[in-house]
Formats: sequence, C-alpha cells, structure tokens
Amino acid sequence: MTVRTRIAPSPTGDPHVGTAYVSLFNWIWARKHGGQFLLRIEDTDQTRSTPESEAAIMRSLRWLGLEWDEGPDVGGPKGPYRQSERTELYREHAQQLIDRGYAYRCFCTPERLSAVRRERMAAGFNTGYDGHCRDLSVSESNRRKDAGESFTVRLKFPQSGETVVSDGLRGDVVIDNSQIDDQILLKSDGFPTYHLANVVDDHLMEITDVIRAEEWISSTPKHVFLYEAFGWSQPRFWHLPLLRNADKSKISKRKNPVSLDYYEQIGILPETMVNFLGLLGWSMPDESEKFTPEQMCDAFTFDRVSTTGPVFDLAKLEWLNGQYIRDLSAAELAARIQSIFLSPERLESIMPLVHERMPRLDSFIPSTSFFLGEQDNYDWTLLMPPKKRKFKGTPDDVRKALLAAAESLDSLRTWTPESVEGLMRELATELEWKAGHLFHPLRVATAGRTAAPPLFETMCTVGSAVTRARLRRAAQKLKGQQLPEA
Ligand code: GLU
Repeated sequence: MTVRTRIAPSPTGDPHVGTAYVSLFNWIWARKHGGQFLLRIEDTDQTRSTPESEAAIMRSLRWLGLEWDEGPDVGGPKGPYRQSERTELYREHAQQLIDRGYAYRCFCTPERLSAVRRERMAAGFNTGYDGHCRDLSVSESNRRKDAGESFTVRLKFPQSGETVVSDGLRGDVVIDNSQIDDQILLKSDGFPTYHLANVVDDHLMEITDVIRAEEWISSTPKHVFLYEAFGWSQPRFWHLPLLRNADKSKISKRKNPVSLDYYEQIGILPETMVNFLGLLGWSMPDESEKFTPEQMCDAFTFDRVSTTGPVFDLAKLEWLNGQYIRDLSAAELAARIQSIFLSPERLESIMPLVHERMPRLDSFIPSTSFFLGEQDNYDWTLLMPPKKRKFKGTPDDVRKALLAAAESLDSLRTWTPESVEGLMRELATELEWKAGHLFHPLRVATAGRTAAPPLFETMCTVGSAVTRARLRRAAQKLKGQQLPEA
C-alpha cells in the first residue's frame, strides 16, 4: 500500500506555524515511504475562508520546501482538492448515511436550539443537542423535507457503549459514547461540516495516515463511527502534541508570533525553520539538534515523537538560526540579506516615505532602520501620549488599546494605508479616544520613535505580520508599568 498523507488547512487568517509543523511530519512520512503528500484546502466555512489566506499558506509551505504532490494548484488524480468544489459529493454521502440509518434530518430551528442550550446549561447538563429529531419516522422526515422545511443532517451517534480510537502515539483511547453529541454533518445551506468532509475526503483521496494536531483527537470518535457507518477501513491516526507558549499554554499569537510570514520577514532562514519544527516533539536518535530534512527523513520513526507539548522557544529558534547563518559564505549571507531587506522593490517602497526628509544620503540608514530590522530598544514611557495633548489614560489603557489594535488588524486582509487608517479610526471611536491619542502609541510601537514617516504608510511598509508583532511587543512592555505621581 502506498503511503498517502495530507495537510488539510482551513484558509482563515495567517499561515500558521502549526500548519507548517504538521505539514513537515506528513511530508517526512510520505517521503520516507516513497508515497505522496497532498494539500487539501478545507474551506467549507465560507464566512471565514479567503483566497488570500489560501495563497499565503501555499506560499509559506513552498518557502519551507514542503512541496505537495497533489493539491488545488498542481492537480492530481483525486481532485478537486478544495472542499468548496466537492459539495455535491458530501451531499450524496450524507444521503447514504440517512438511508442506512446512521444520520437523520434535524428540523430544529436556531431559536429552538439556543433555547435548549440555555435550558440545559441552567440545569447543569452538557449543552449538546437533545436529540429532538433523532427518532422522526422516515415518512415524517421525507414529508417535511418535501414541504421545503429547512434542515441539517446530524450523525446518529450511539448513545451508549464506547468508541475506541487507536492512536499511533497514544495507543487505544477509549471514549464513552454518552459524551458525544449528534454532530451536524451537513448544514442547512447544504455545506458539510469539518467531520463529514474530512472523512469522505480522506477516504476518497486514499489517505493512509492521518497525522494531525492533538486538538482533533476529541473529534476522532465521530470519524471512527463515520468510517464504520460507510463500511470503510480507517486510516492510521497519529495526533502530534500541540505546540506551546513558554508558559505551556497552547501556542497563541498573544504570546508568540504564529504567522510564518513574520518569521520569514525577520530573516529566519527556511532551513532553520524546518529543522526547528522537526525538533518540536521529535529528536534525532543521536540527539543532534542540527539536521536537514533528508537526515530527518532517514532517521524518522514515530516512537521518537513525544506526546508532551513542545515549547515554541524563540531563543532556541534564534540560536539555531545563528548556526545556519554561520554556515553561509559571506556572499550567500549578503544575498539573503539583500533579498529580504534591500531588494530593489523593498527599497523603492521605502524611498517615498523618507525622500523629503533626507539632508544627506547617509541619513538613509538611521532614518529607515525600523524598516530594516528590530526597533525594540525604546523606553516604554515613549508609548504614552504626551500629557500636553491632554491624554488622561494609564499605561494599562494604552496596553489594552495596542492589543485591541493588533487584534482588529489580524483580520484585515488587504493592507493599504487607507484600510489600516479606517480600522484604527474605528477603534479610536470605539475606545472613545481621540484618534491622535491612539496613533501615538501605534507610531512608537511600529517605528520605535516618536518622529517617523506618515503612520499608516509606515505600518504598511513594515508589513502586516511584523507590525502586529511589534504592537503586541509594545503592549508587553507596558505590562505592570505605572507612571510616577505628578
Ligand atoms: N481543517 C482542519 C484544520 O484546519 C484539518 C484537521 C485535520 O487534519 O483533520 O486543521
């Protein structure tokens, strides 16, 4: 049997380090066995999925060299590889489950469902579905469907007994069926949920090994039941440990930059990143820390993957990057620096912002240094809008405003000076702040100084991922700070 693995990202937001991490292990496993690694885009959540995010994920995985053999852009025999183009297949499969008695139509209205949720919560029950439509007769169900009533399709999950999930890393995990809800498989708009689409596709795409993050393990009993209901054999499941922040919580952008764009733009080399991701939760038999993907491929076994969450340690990443940088020749190093920071396109985008303010050409570096690298050395007090501008807030107010700014910018897809400004003005209104009071800490956080080129052009030229990380770092600087009594 040919080993076939896949990465199945949902294209919502930034290309995430977690996606690269899981991709690497899938890629290695397929390469090791001479098999295939697929990219499948799970874009069934139409409100959150964006083509920009899909493109960014593909670009980042390619940056890391984690090429796929089949996928939406390269094609392949089991396509289409974008779930939004496969909806008919999911509807057919949902119907098969209804016909076999493993799923049922649920006609409950959203109002009824939220009332039930409230009642169950108040009574101290779990807030899952109460099974109201579970035992509707076939004729009643057909009649209501034919009358045009809106419905979802739910899994008729057994209410007693146990389901065993065999996980390659954890052995058999036994789950009490009573804990599992009658999951919606098909929404009222005819789109599938993750569970149905994921299982149907893994089967039809002949995936042999599902290697994914631990957070999905609680969904796997539903998947195991779906495989049984369809009469299909299950793939092997391997749930990788979740990446963690330094404080051991699940990795989050609040505590760690998670966008691959950020790491690329600060000059983490792709070979470092791949090596670093390989070290998270896995180790070489000889414990060596620096290795190529080929060496990892040769040495890889799942029994060296640990199940305790590895810490995404930025200091370690930078240490490793330093090792790779040392290996480059001077010419190679110059070329890498040039391609990220000093490419003609990059310089041309910076020029208009400093053009009018340059008494000598050698003011170029000092006046643009924050476009070219870290600007972290400023004192936190600089972030406070000056008193003479009648700002009455505390450092904690400014901290919260910076976090709110980063949060709202996270979901801005297209960065232009106008779109960033619009969003920041909206935020100022929401906070009931004067716009200037908000723009001051934004400027200092982005540029590390109070006098800088026009703010929104600067934020756009520094770039989305790096700017948002700087806003969060500035907020961090303000934590616990107090202004001296006047
Ligand atoms: N779409 C899911 C995600 O975003 C896929 C999870 C899986 O690999 O089954 O991670």
